[in-house]
Amino acid sequence: MVRQSARQASKTGAATAAAATATATATTATSVSITRIKKTVSAKSNGTGVKKETADVETKVEVKKTNVAKRKAPAPATIKDEDDSEDDSPVKKETAKKPAAKKRKTKVATKGDDNMILAPRTAVTSLKRAMYIGAHVSGAGGVQNSIQNAVNIGANSFALFLKSQRKWSSPPLAADAKTQFHAMLKQHGYDAAQHILPHGSYLVNLAQADKTKADQAYENFIDDLQRCEALGIRLYNFHPGSTGGETMAAATGRIAAQLNRAHKATKSVITVIENMCGSGNVVGSRFEDLRDIIRLVDDKSRVGVCIDTCHAFAAGYDLRSPEAFAETVAKFDEIVGLKYLKAFHLNDSKAPFASHRDLHANIGTGFLGLRAFHSIVNHEAFQDLPMVLETPIDEKGPDGKSVENKQIWADEIKLLESLIGADAGSAEFKAQAVELQAKGAAERAKVQDQVDKKAVKDAKKGTKKAKAAAPKKGGRAKKKDEDEDDEEEEHECGSGSD
Ligand SMILES: [Zn+2]
Ligand SMILES: [Zn+2]
Repeated sequence: MVRQSARQASKTGAATAAAATATATATTATSVSITRIKKTVSAKSNGTGVKKETADVETKVEVKKTNVAKRKAPAPATIKDEDDSEDDSPVKKETAKKPAAKKRKTKVATKGDDNMILAPRTAVTSLKRAMYIGAHVSGAGGVQNSIQNAVNIGANSFALFLKSQRKWSSPPLAADAKTQFHAMLKQHGYDAAQHILPHGSYLVNLAQADKTKADQAYENFIDDLQRCEALGIRLYNFHPGSTGGETMAAATGRIAAQLNRAHKATKSVITVIENMCGSGNVVGSRFEDLRDIIRLVDDKSRVGVCIDTCHAFAAGYDLRSPEAFAETVAKFDEIVGLKYLKAFHLNDSKAPFASHRDLHANIGTGFLGLRAFHSIVNHEAFQDLPMVLETPIDEKGPDGKSVENKQIWADEIKLLESLIGADAGSAEFKAQAVELQAKGAAERAKVQDQVDKKAVKDAKKGTKKAKAAAPKKGGRAKKKDEDEDDEEEEHECGSGSD
């Protein structure tokens, strides 16, 4: 059975649902409501079933304009466990046990997630632009569960992992899971071909030069594409990979060759390359890398690009002001081509511009700021694309342990929708932007400090390297490799957070 819950939803959003988290100040609020969120944590119990533990987390929600929306959670399909990909959030997942429930016990049919509607879905037709905003939800216990998880946060698009993203082998897609996925899609009116964007495994590197490892990567990749086709999903997002120390041209060539092979082995799925932010060996941080892969793909209708806003910004593509946004979009169009743009990952950045650090921040709280997202959700050409949040939702519980608060995604979706057609010059918008910036100030200062310290360290290392490399034969090449390894580690993209 599913619990029903009335939820506060800020429709027009000026009030910034995203700001309405536990730490928001009460200065601008005109109404206050206390929302109780029931968290359900699942733990395996010896293969015989799932043990549930529940905990109540109190969240203070403050909004200026409040529409109370009541919505019934639909009856869930009977779910069978399909795989064991518990850790399937793009944001690091907390697996610590929660304290016992205070009053109510939750009965849920799905494993890993509760079935509470945290915000109603907005009818996209009611928006001034057809923006399909959602988040990367869990598919733990079977891909079919992702749909209820998307419904719960009011997502009009969503991402998921089709299998465990940190294991090389997973059980095949269960027939039941497929049937239920299609039934749930129909029930909730999601268009799998348009607005569902699975994320590939973090293990797969299609640029891999070693034959055995390249074959292993391909097998994992093609298995995911086949799952997409079985589920009616048309878009599949993946990280392009790493050069492994070889040239970028060799790497993009190998990626394209793997894509060509995969396209021939499947019928319809579009392989969507995610832009990256790392430097050194990371492929895809420059638009040119993406262009070079696409150039070598035989069937251009089967390849596309997903722009992760945090990655773009950290890689040196500015989006903060309307002018910078326009310039970056023009650059993308010129180098890659807007026709290849298939999706967005919407994340603010805890790290400063061009820092090559992959640290996702909540919308408006990072170095990008709210204005950047206003530009994106109001851009006509971006309509109908899936726009998926991969923002952090872990919060410290009363016991000091981290708990996931999916209300943050529900609120961020409403916040982004509220920006559509909103006047960015208004006092209200500016106040909202300032308020969100204040929330992220400490975190931004912390990362800025790290980046500054690293710059100093790198400068010193560069001086030492120059001195050391000069007299010794062979020393230079070795040093270079070591430095590249350092770079990759420091700037690693996709380390569980995107
Ligand atoms: Zn990613
Ligand atoms: Zn991403």
